[in-house]
Amino acid sequence: MIKENLEEIKNKLPQEVTLVAVSKTKPIRDIQEAYDAGQRVFGENKIQEMATKYDALPKDIEWHMIGHLQRNKVKYMAHFVSLIHGVDSLKTLQEINKQAKKHHRVINCLLQVKIATEESKFGLSFEEINNILTSDEIKSMENISIVGFMGMATFTDNESQLLNEFSSLENFFNEQKKHHKELTVLSMGMSGDYKLAIKKGSNMVRIGSSIFGIRNYIA
Ligand SMILES: *Cc1c(COP(=O)(O)O)cnc(C)c1O
Repeated sequence: MIKENLEEIKNKLPQEVTLVAVSKTKPIRDIQEAYDAGQRVFGENKIQEMATKYDALPKDIEWHMIGHLQRNKVKYMAHFVSLIHGVDSLKTLQEINKQAKKHHRVINCLLQVKIATEESKFGLSFEEINNILTSDEIKSMENISIVGFMGMATFTDNESQLLNEFSSLENFFNEQKKHHKELTVLSMGMSGDYKLAIKKGSNMVRIGSSIFGIRNYIA
């Protein structure tokens, strides 16, 4: 079913929207099946799980880290990760910069913005992002590039609330782009809400269960 699911979703996505297939908790064979159907961008939320999968799978896959980051584990992905979505502190940026330097790489990062009303969602406020983007520290970090923002909406089926949350990030993104030309990626939208996110300017969606089926978290 993975191939069929992928095709169905890709048919619905506008050309400029990148599909990140979220394969967390799923076995290698499922990722290989998606790969064989042409998918090349995959997202994981645990660094070690992603590193194991990187070792086992074709090397033209682009691996995205979408989960909350533990700083002491950044070193396990610094040699291969292509985009880190969930960065929410200057300290984490410093660690990514340090590890990227060891591999002579520049690692692309997205700052995670808190748009949901739920207490549990990680992320920075608009003000904190503004402070980071204009800080002297950021200018001195040569091995990272902040290329955009990531946001997760509240877990709800209230469409107007979702549209409001996505819209607040869209406006902030458009405003910041005027000052920071390197901001090009807006990562918003998951299986349940990606169509609304695209209406509000998302150009990168992170979709798991609609491609790979329901996850079980026994592991
Ligand atoms: C798991 C996850 C997704 C994908 O969720 P689905 O509802 O399965 O599409 C997207 N983004 C993040 C940050 C996630 O952790």
